Amino acid sequence: MTDEKRFDPVAVRDAFSLLSDETRVQILLCLFDRDDPCTFSELRAHAGIEDSGRFNYHLGQLVGTFVRKQSGQGTTGYTLTYAGNRIVGSIASGSFTREVSIESQRLAASCVRCDTRLKLQYESEQLSVACCSCEYSLISAGVPPALIERTGHDDLPTTFERWARSSHGHVTNGFCWRCDGPVSTTLVDLDAIPDAFADLLPVELTCEWCGATYSSVVGGLVLGASPVIVFHYEHGIDIATTPLWELSWPFEPHAAIRSTDPLSIDVWIELDGDRLELVLDETFAIIESEPHL
Ligand SMILES: [Zn+2]
Ligand SMILES: [Zn+2]
Repeated sequence: MTDEKRFDPVAVRDAFSLLSDETRVQILLCLFDRDDPCTFSELRAHAGIEDSGRFNYHLGQLVGTFVRKQSGQGTTGYTLTYAGNRIVGSIASGSFTREVSIESQRLAASCVRCDTRLKLQYESEQLSVACCSCEYSLISAGVPPALIERTGHDDLPTTFERWARSSHGHVTNGFCWRCDGPVSTTLVDLDAIPDAFADLLPVELTCEWCGATYSSVVGGLVLGASPVIVFHYEHGIDIATTPLWELSWPFEPHAAIRSTDPLSIDVWIELDGDRLELVLDETFAIIESEPHL
């Protein structure tokens, strides 16, 4: 982030300094547990804080930034603001306070490049699916510690797949995973990457607000498109529930540039000898779709 107008460091410091007190954190956690607005006395009892004056002071400090005070029908209630929900959500996810480590585990699927079994591994808060032999990394995503902790060993591949798909979808739908800012998509400069990856037509998704970048491939942009879903369904594959690493085509050559000005891209998907051909325009929208059965 380079434009300093996007945040005021003093205002950020003041907001986070509100959290430097256990009572306030306790109040936020209590509100997080409640769906409905909480009255003062309910909240104090729930938080287990007997000193009314002390409780009132700390609650007042949070109102406006992390807590919303709302009145109506003769009562006053307290709820979390959007910022309050986001910050307590991060606390609950263990991102600030927990560390976990797990053994890597082998998956049933094999690498599209060398046919060796794939493995699921967790390092530096990143879960990834990669080849045990050639180290080709198919999918990688930041995962909060609590998600790892509450998921059993056997369920972790499925849970991670849903998490990765959800994170990827958030970005490809145009929202930054980090700050929810608008995301633009561009083709990666094919001259700047190894041929093996150029064959996949990698794309870079860039947040126009915070500058974060994300990587995918052209095939990843069409995973949720109706022609792609239907083509898989007609071949007995439910694309919504099949692990991405079992769909080999997104990790093999599946796209080529048809023209550069304006940009036009051919995408092909082959299943059981049948072929779905798509044409994408410069916005990566599908403008032609033709199955060859
Ligand atoms: Zn491999
Ligand atoms: Zn962003």
